Amino acid sequence: MSILLGCIADDFTGATDLANNLVRNGMRVVQTIGIPQRGLDQDFDAVVVALKSRNLESGEAIAQSLEALDWLRTQGAQQIYFKYCSTFDSTPKGNIGPVTEALMDALDTDFTIATPAFPDNGRSVFKGYLFVGDVLLSESGMRDHPLTPMTDPNLVRVLQAQCKKKVGLISYQSVLAGAQAVTDRIAELRAQNVSIAIVDAVSNEDLYRIAPALKNLPLLTGGSGVAIGLPGNFGLITRPETSVLPPALGYQAIISGSCSEATNRQVAYFKQQGGAAYAINPLELVSESANAILPNILAWAKPLLPAGPVLIYSTAKPDEVRAIQAKLGMQAAGSAIENMLASIAQGLVGLGVGQILVAGGETSGACVRELGVDQMQIGPQIDPGVPWCYAQGKHQALHLTLKSGNFGTDDFFTKAFSKL
Ligand code: ADP
Repeated sequence: MSILLGCIADDFTGATDLANNLVRNGMRVVQTIGIPQRGLDQDFDAVVVALKSRNLESGEAIAQSLEALDWLRTQGAQQIYFKYCSTFDSTPKGNIGPVTEALMDALDTDFTIATPAFPDNGRSVFKGYLFVGDVLLSESGMRDHPLTPMTDPNLVRVLQAQCKKKVGLISYQSVLAGAQAVTDRIAELRAQNVSIAIVDAVSNEDLYRIAPALKNLPLLTGGSGVAIGLPGNFGLITRPETSVLPPALGYQAIISGSCSEATNRQVAYFKQQGGAAYAINPLELVSESANAILPNILAWAKPLLPAGPVLIYSTAKPDEVRAIQAKLGMQAAGSAIENMLASIAQGLVGLGVGQILVAGGETSGACVRELGVDQMQIGPQIDPGVPWCYAQGKHQALHLTLKSGNFGTDDFFTKAFSKL
């Protein structure tokens, strides 16, 4: 069976976000963790290969992206989509520009678009300038990002600095005038030797309107916003069955290693509502009693599981996190906690848990590895950007949802299970 759309995402939770948008607009989607080492479990319209290439050295990011492209082409993908962050996270070295150019060369195409516009999440592009909410990218928190500080909001300039090929703009005037005007503008840019065009868009209507003009481009690049118009290009429309997963079985558990503000609120809310919760003390992980932690937690959880979801968390407020990091070191604390939470997730599956909610991007990566998950079928959305997924674990099938730090409403932990 061949797929329609093959996607390469430069990070894990961004991949899920893209997959979620495609499902909501009519595609059956699977997300793979890294480049698949085997075929797909069943038929899908789109595959999103989740890489962790955003902050790699650009040669390595290109190599991984090309390998993903090769695999997607063997699956018959008719169009390729390179997904990056809607805040255009990159440095003057890349990786958005170099990966885009490498994919264009490999696909032998002379033109593609680039737009991080994602109106549902407040990302809009106007005259080539990226806005985050009401402010320019360079005035948003991204200005101070530790790895990819974004100090220039003009994406034509930002992308040109990363590219050998010429970068241009499809401005709002063409976008508003509709698909034919965008097609005409693409022809005009091609005649000027422009190879990559930033596209303005400030609303979902804009993204739906331009979609037909993108139909024949072998490669598209963008945030997850542009994806909303693509299923329509393949004759697909929103249908409830694309997000239907097999029935959920087994007990329910929440593993939280995120210390983001939203997650702190979600943990507090769950406890306030009387939910069963176990706090991990990170200092114990390096103590003499470390070996007892996992069996103790599983013994605590076992009698509680039949009554509803249990929460096991290391989630803490910024001052507590700083204190732990000062004692253990930031990296060492992070990976010790991630490893413990992942072992707990696998231990809970052994006790009959079949529905798992994980809070935290890095924490999710660790849990998915430990659970032996390499493909996730994307199901119904719980909150924007966070769907339920269905995956084959080491020994049994699981329902999983992976929430990156700041996503989800305060009642997310209980609300999530009611959506299955
Ligand atoms: P988010 O999506 O909110 O950024 P992540 O899971 O990506 O969450 O990152 C949180 C990081 O903080 C992980 O490496 C985790 O192990 C670490 N961590 C979790 N709890 C604590 C804690 N109490 N003290 C120090 N570090 C912690």
